Amino acid sequence: MEFEIIRKDVMGRIGKLKTTSGTIETPTILPVINPSLMTIEPAEMAKYGAEMLITNSYIIYRNDGLRKRAIDEGLHAMLNWNGPIMTDSGSYQLFEYGDVEVKNSEIIRFQEQIGTDIAVPLDLPTPPDVDFERAESDLKETLKRLEEARMISDIPMAGPVQGSTFLDLREESAAKVGKIGFEIYPIGGVVPLMEAYRYSDLVDIIASAKKFLPQNAPVHLFGAGHPMVFGLAVLLGCDMFDSAAYAIYAKKGRYLTRYKTCRVNELQYLPCSCPICSSYSLEDIKNNKTLLCEHNLYVTFEEMRLVKQSLKEGNLWELVERRCRSHPYLLSGLFRATKYARLMETYDPATKSTFFYLGETSARRPEVLRYSDRLNRFDLCGKVLIFAGKGKVKKCIDHIDGYDHIFLMKAPFGPYPIGLKETYPIGQSEAPKDMDPVAKTVALENVLRLIEANRDFDVEFIFVYDGDLWDHPLIEKIGRFATTTEY
Ligand SMILES: [Zn+2]
Repeated sequence: MEFEIIRKDVMGRIGKLKTTSGTIETPTILPVINPSLMTIEPAEMAKYGAEMLITNSYIIYRNDGLRKRAIDEGLHAMLNWNGPIMTDSGSYQLFEYGDVEVKNSEIIRFQEQIGTDIAVPLDLPTPPDVDFERAESDLKETLKRLEEARMISDIPMAGPVQGSTFLDLREESAAKVGKIGFEIYPIGGVVPLMEAYRYSDLVDIIASAKKFLPQNAPVHLFGAGHPMVFGLAVLLGCDMFDSAAYAIYAKKGRYLTRYKTCRVNELQYLPCSCPICSSYSLEDIKNNKTLLCEHNLYVTFEEMRLVKQSLKEGNLWELVERRCRSHPYLLSGLFRATKYARLMETYDPATKSTFFYLGETSARRPEVLRYSDRLNRFDLCGKVLIFAGKGKVKKCIDHIDGYDHIFLMKAPFGPYPIGLKETYPIGQSEAPKDMDPVAKTVALENVLRLIEANRDFDVEFIFVYDGDLWDHPLIEKIGRFATTTEY
C-alpha cells in the first residue's frame, strides 16, 4: 500500500492512498456499515462522497449467515461495494462490553479470508482517565497483539495508538507501533473525549501521537464522525475518519450541522441545501430517519470537501478558527493546539496564501512563531529606526537618511525591514486596524527580541510609535533598551 502526500498545510495533508481495491484521496471519512443493520445501502455511499467504507469483521464473524456469505462471496461482493473496505476487529465491542468471543489471531485470519483491504488487530482501547497501571498494562497487551498480528499476516493493516489520557504513554505507543510498522495508524480510545467535548485533551493526544508516528502513512482518528471536529483534526495531521455518527445521530433524531448538533424536532427551518433538505419539507425529515441519515451524510462529506479545499488554498488555519469559534470547548481545543505551534511549524509550508488575523489564536500561528525565530537573521549596524506610526514613514520622520536601517511594524509579526514589505508573510497578512492586546503583545515582544538579538553589536534603536495605536505596557520595557518617541 502506498501513501503519497500531494499537498500540505500546517500539519494537514492531501494524500493518495493506494489500496488493492483502488486509490482514494485523503483526508476522507469512512462511513461505518453495520452489516446486520444497513440504513443506507453501501452501494449508495459514493453518492454522498464516500471513497472507502469501514465495517466490523467481528459482527460478521459472530453471525453464521453473514460469516458464510463473507467467506463464500468475499466482503466486497457481500456489501456490493467494489471500492476499498477497512474492517474493524471487535475492539469497539471490547471497549463497550468489556469482552469479546474471539482471539486476536482468529479475527486477523478472518479479515484476511474475507478479503479486507485494511485489517485491524484486536487491540485494547483504554478509556480516558483510568489509572496509570491499567493504561500501561492495556498498552503492553495491545503491543503484544499488534506484533502477533504482523507475524500472522502480511495484508495491509492498521496499528492503533492507545495509552488513554497519559500523553507519555501515547508517545511511547506511537513510537513502538511505528517501529512495528503498519500501513495506517489509528488513534484509538478517544470517542468518550469527543462525546464530552473534551477537545483540548483530544488535541494533546493527537499531537503526542503525531510527534512519534511515521510521517509517510495515514493517521486515522477512530470514531470521529462529527463534521465539527474535522478541521481541527486535519490541522493536526489526521487523514482518515470514520462515521457511525450519521446513523446513530439520526436514530436519536439529531440533525448534524458543521457547527453543532440540533434536535430535528426543535428546528423551525432547514439550515441546509443538500438534496434532502432542498427536496423534502422539515416535517418529512422529522418523520423519516432515513432522510435524516442522508442529510447527516451530505453535511459530513460537504465539510470534508471544504476542509480539503481550504488545505489546498493554504488557509486551513482560518477555516479552523472559524469552526472553533462555534463552540467554547472547540475554542479551548484550538487554544491548546497553539501550544504545539513549534511542532506545527516544522510541517507548515514556508509560503502560502493570505494570512488573515481572526483573533488571538492567529497571533500564536506557526507562521508568527517562525517569524519570531528568524528575527536574529537581520544583519544590522548603526542607527535603526522602528516606525510604528500611522501613515508613510517618510512623511512622519525628519532626516530619514540619517538611519542605517528602517523597520516598519505590523501586528502580530512586529518589526520588519521596509524591503520585506511585499514578501510572505508580512506582505500577505491582513489584520484589523484596531488590534487586540494579544496581537500587540506578540508584535512588541518581537521588537524586544530584535533589540536583544543585536545587543552585542554597535546598534542604536529608535522606536517611534503612535500612542493611540500602540498603547501597551511593553512600550515602557522597550524604552529601557531603545530611544522611544511617541508622536
Ligand atoms: Zn441537508
